[in-house]
Amino acid sequence: SVRFENVSKVFGGLVAAHNLNFEINDGEFIVFVGPSGCGKTTTLRMLAGLERPSYGRICIGDRDVTLDSPGRRDISMVFQSYALFPHMTVYKNLAFGPDVRGMGKPEIDSRVRSVAETLHLDKLLDRYPHELSGGQRQRIALGRTMIRQPKIFLLDEPLSNLDAALRVSMRSGIIELQKRLAVTAVYVTHDQVEAMTMGDRIAVFKDGIILQFDTPQNIYQHPANTFVATFMGSPK
Ligand code: ATP
Repeated sequence: SVRFENVSKVFGGLVAAHNLNFEINDGEFIVFVGPSGCGKTTTLRMLAGLERPSYGRICIGDRDVTLDSPGRRDISMVFQSYALFPHMTVYKNLAFGPDVRGMGKPEIDSRVRSVAETLHLDKLLDRYPHELSGGQRQRIALGRTMIRQPKIFLLDEPLSNLDAALRVSMRSGIIELQKRLAVTAVYVTHDQVEAMTMGDRIAVFKDGIILQFDTPQNIYQHPANTFVATFMGSPK
């Protein structure tokens, strides 16, 4: 599990995250949703170890990781901006992660093919990044993270550059892979529909605060306040 205890992050005079308290269970798909600048990415970066909390404590399992570097957490993260190795094929780009960790070739191959199939990349494995569209490159970046099979998988708006049809099919692809690998996922988006369709539970952020952390159904039927109701489109 992941636990945030009284976690805050202050940049200069700006409180980007304020007194966050929540727990994420193993295998859950959690969505952080909210308007631009509300602290979603900062919270994700604190979990990844890329940002240190100003106050409070972050635990993964029994371990206090508040001061641990990113490399000491079993986490991988997909960013909005994605970087691929330009001189490597799609296959090599996907295989690079597990290769580095000294996994056997057959194991790498089977993981590459399974991820490529889920993300509809199976016909592109011999191409180079410059021969692909932005959306295809984004899917490879996503695949690279999934292939490592970390315990915790962090995604920051990974579908933002895709067209509407592909976004919809990728949503279910991501969920399918997350459930199959039984990883814990935290997914950041400003898209309410994405949050409602993907999240086992959703954290609704506003101005660095989590207003409600609940299942899509409860958020829809019992929004905590008018902002949540209006933002998430529930009938209150
Ligand atoms: P978006 O959806 O636009 O990415 P967000 O909800 O992810 O927004 P954050 O990126 O977490 O929001 O930013 C929260 C606040 O903290 C914003 O006001 C932002 O300008 C500020 N902020 C984030 N990173 C830094 C930083 N390194 N230095 C100073 N301020 C920062």
